[in-house]
Amino acid sequence: MPVDFELTKEQEDIKATVREFAERYIAPKAVEFDEKQEIHPEIIREMARLGLFGVVFPDKYGGLGLDPVTAGLILEEIVRADLTFSLAVAYLVQTSWGYIAYKYGSEEFRDEVITKAARGDLWIGIATTEPGAGSDLVGITTTARKVGSEYVVSGEKAYISGVREARERGKWFEYGGGHVTLTYTDKSKQHRGMTFFFIPLTDPNISIRLEKEFGRKGWSFGSFVLNDVKVPEKYRIGDEGRGFYIAMEGFDHARAYIALACAVGGKRAIELAVEYAKQRKAFDSPIASFQGIQFQLADNWARLEAAHSLAYKALWALKMEQEGKIGRFEVTKIAAAAKLFAVQAAKAAIDDALRWFGAYGYTEENLVALALKAVKSYDWAEGSLDIMRLIVAREVLGRDFVSGRRR
Ligand SMILES: Cc1cc2nc3c(=O)[nH]c(=O)nc-3n(C[C@H](O)[C@H](O)[C@H](O)COP(=O)(O)OP(=O)(O)OC[C@H]3O[C@@H](n4cnc5c(N)ncnc54)[C@H](O)[C@@H]3O)c2cc1C
Repeated sequence: MPVDFELTKEQEDIKATVREFAERYIAPKAVEFDEKQEIHPEIIREMARLGLFGVVFPDKYGGLGLDPVTAGLILEEIVRADLTFSLAVAYLVQTSWGYIAYKYGSEEFRDEVITKAARGDLWIGIATTEPGAGSDLVGITTTARKVGSEYVVSGEKAYISGVREARERGKWFEYGGGHVTLTYTDKSKQHRGMTFFFIPLTDPNISIRLEKEFGRKGWSFGSFVLNDVKVPEKYRIGDEGRGFYIAMEGFDHARAYIALACAVGGKRAIELAVEYAKQRKAFDSPIASFQGIQFQLADNWARLEAAHSLAYKALWALKMEQEGKIGRFEVTKIAAAAKLFAVQAAKAAIDDALRWFGAYGYTEENLVALALKAVKSYDWAEGSLDIMRLIVAREVLGRDFVSGRRR
């Protein structure tokens, strides 16, 4: 199997441009994202100007037409500059679920919505989770009824990222945004009766409520209630009954990017802690000279390096799938394994790295402390670690061994 980690000239140039931007504009403000509980709108606008909200959309709709591996290289630079992971969420959700909305959306939808998203004038989020159903998507209760050329949608979505940014026009995104929202169009068919819609959160008939987040506070997280909200047919994403399958595909994209964000975030936390450990002295020696710290460093670095490679394998698998070279389930397995491994590697590394800072690690101005809170979100967001384990086991063992299945 040929393996090549070399970047193309185009990839090198993109990475260098984004790194320069991220170091100059993002890094100096990152601590403030959590402190102010929002991302400075001018940073979002500058990212939009660089095309960073449209990286995977085709040129025809105003995007950069990049593949998932190159989109990952951009994510690396964003995470390195913002260890609160707030901008990572803004970027990776648009890059994964925006792509899914483009792929399955109608031509009218693409012309109207994807072109705005590609310019960074509109943000696309994902809403599958409800107060009563997260891991078990079949348990959702939101429904969509067809009435003439519209659908009437009712239900509640909970713990959804970006509800505030999508609700407000003009502050972060000119047109606000909306969420690719999972509903039932025929509950009797269970997962075969689910359908996705793009639902703009700017609709005044939708009410939103914000949660107080534990970490990653720059990007909002909350619920929205749909009370007989009318959604035009052109906003349906994919055919009726295909929602569950499209959701599974979208999760693969998001999980691969999350795996990369965690691997890179973990490495960056270690780098910051290493700088500190080289100059901080205890017992007349830099703490970096103590083997207790060196062994932690080595174990974590080895795990993060492995997580980094596996994340790129997942992004490469998405690219191969787009080129028709590998199948869906292979991608699902690698993406789930990548998220499972990277989240745990990052949590362990960031926790150890934070300890090297001593008491200074227990302050909210320490980026590594903010990273520890943020990375915890990936125990659940885009599928819990237990669900990742179930997926990997199912793909390795075969579907006859799915736990709890009636035989
Ligand atoms: C910061 C953050 C952002 C989020 N953003 C979004 C978003 O933008 N859009 C969206 O739709 N959702 C979002 N979510 C929700 C996320 O997708 C869910 O939290 C996740 O799917 C788990 O669902 P749940 O919270 O309902 O937990 P539950 O499904 O109730 O699970 C609770 C626990 O039981 C375990 N469990 C469940 N089933 C099994 C099983 N079969 N075997 C073993 N263990 C099991 C789970 O692993 C978990 O530990 C976000 C969550 C967080 C924390």
